[in-house]
Amino acid sequence: MFQIFELTQADPKSLLQRTLKLSEETGELAEAVLSVTDAPGSAYKAHTLHDVREEAADAALVALSVLAQTCETSEEFSAELDRLMREKSAKWQAKLAE
Ligand SMILES: [Mg+2]
Repeated sequence: MFQIFELTQADPKSLLQRTLKLSEETGELAEAVLSVTDAPGSAYKAHTLHDVREEAADAALVALSVLAQTCETSEEFSAELDRLMREKSAKWQAKLAE
């Protein structure tokens, strides 16, 4: 999926550094959402929903890269991503149905 496994292998970050990068990206997402929702002290930054989408994509990409770094092969990454998304979304769906 979008060469995420291969890109992760080509990027020399450690698992710890990649996880900290995810924290950085979620911070950027938080900043954009605070601005878009006119949170006191953040509205002046004038972010847009386009910025929110961009930062959500950055965070998702880095999260997938963390997952990829725990896998030995592209096939394992794809299988694990598929399994985890199925399991986690089913769990979410069940929770909503309670
Ligand atoms: Mg970003």
